[in-house]
Amino acid sequence: MTLCREVAEKLLLYRDGTLPEEEEPFIREHLQYCPPCLDLLSSYEEVCEVLKRLQPVNMPCDLIARMKERMRRKLAGETPSDDDGSCDESPSSPE
Ligand SMILES: [Zn+2]
Repeated sequence: MTLCREVAEKLLLYRDGTLPEEEEPFIREHLQYCPPCLDLLSSYEEVCEVLKRLQPVNMPCDLIARMKERMRRKLAGETPSDDDGSCDESPSSPE
């Protein structure tokens, strides 16, 4: 059985088409019976659309990583703080 948390981890790769072929069926199957994960996938789609329109320079914080973290907490049953807001860590530069 595929856990939501594992799926959440892999959705980005799945979306990018960089997920190992043998793992795709599990994700696809999971998405069929798990609306929350399907929802997460569409959020990724939205974020990626937005990012595509932005210039590929430094993102303010690591948006996707933060989304993942938030979703992970949600799936873990923790109460996500609505917005922790702070951007105190320096964004990781691509290269
Ligand atoms: Zn799920």
